Amino acid sequence: QWIYLDGEFVEKENAKISVFDHGFLYGDGVFEGIRVYNGNVYKLDEHLVRLYNSAKSIMLDIPYTKQDLTDIIVETLKKNDLRDAYIRLVVSRGVGNLGLDPASCARPQLVVIAEKLAIYPKEFYEKGLDIVTVATRRNRPDVLSPKVKSLNYLNNILVKIEAGLAGVNEALMLNNEGYVAEGSADNIFILREGVLYTPPGYVGALEGITRQAIVELAGEMGYDLREEPFTRHDVYTADEVFLTGTAAEVIAVIKVDGRIIGDGKPGPETQRILEAFRGKVEKDGVK
Ligand code: PLP
Repeated sequence: QWIYLDGEFVEKENAKISVFDHGFLYGDGVFEGIRVYNGNVYKLDEHLVRLYNSAKSIMLDIPYTKQDLTDIIVETLKKNDLRDAYIRLVVSRGVGNLGLDPASCARPQLVVIAEKLAIYPKEFYEKGLDIVTVATRRNRPDVLSPKVKSLNYLNNILVKIEAGLAGVNEALMLNNEGYVAEGSADNIFILREGVLYTPPGYVGALEGITRQAIVELAGEMGYDLREEPFTRHDVYTADEVFLTGTAAEVIAVIKVDGRIIGDGKPGPETQRILEAFRGKVEKDGVK
């Protein structure tokens, strides 16, 4: 496996970062997770826009143009002979001294990893996910916006840990007001009486590329889609619940905090939406 590391391709074993990189010392940096379907990089432009916006928000100047990044991604795929892949693109603040001040970091560091996809097992799609809500709260939008896809993923990691402690694979975070925000790395949708709901960005969620794709797709499919805050009660009593994300695509949830959703099986609308989504992924990619 070849990794793009700051200007060159190196073998996985040699792809190493300095211990003085502020990405390592402080989680100072931004990243994207991007999917490739049959050689088409899914919604690449949207991912790059989000990357540059995340970087701008934390005052990190990415020393590459969008075209540079596109070329590097394409080359990384070629070098690894991959047509279906998950790409991890990381830009860290770079090497500096032990102080917090990024002024000591001369140059941001770019890493691009492309690998075969490690998605949820097929069985999860067939059976649906059993999830819980956890104590960890989404970070407040007035502090560091959840829209920034930064290398600070500690609350998301705590969500995963809490999910594991509860014996399930995924969990939901609420915001400080108690509204449902999102999963550890997935957005949430619920369906009630034919209407689809997803929390608006201001509730405190990453503005997922898959979420946006589903919002658009739902419109095309004739669903009434509302971006409105909702609570756990609304999730418990929904007809269907599903999560969306680059890795997961669209995955049904069949139990939340022990409450069975619908009849405890992935719902028919979730299935329809997943199929419609998969039917479009190649077309929505960049060759
Ligand atoms: N929420 C968080 C916190 C994430 O890290 C991700 C993953 O990127 C998502 C939601 C889903 O976003 P996307 O559909 O862009 O992968």
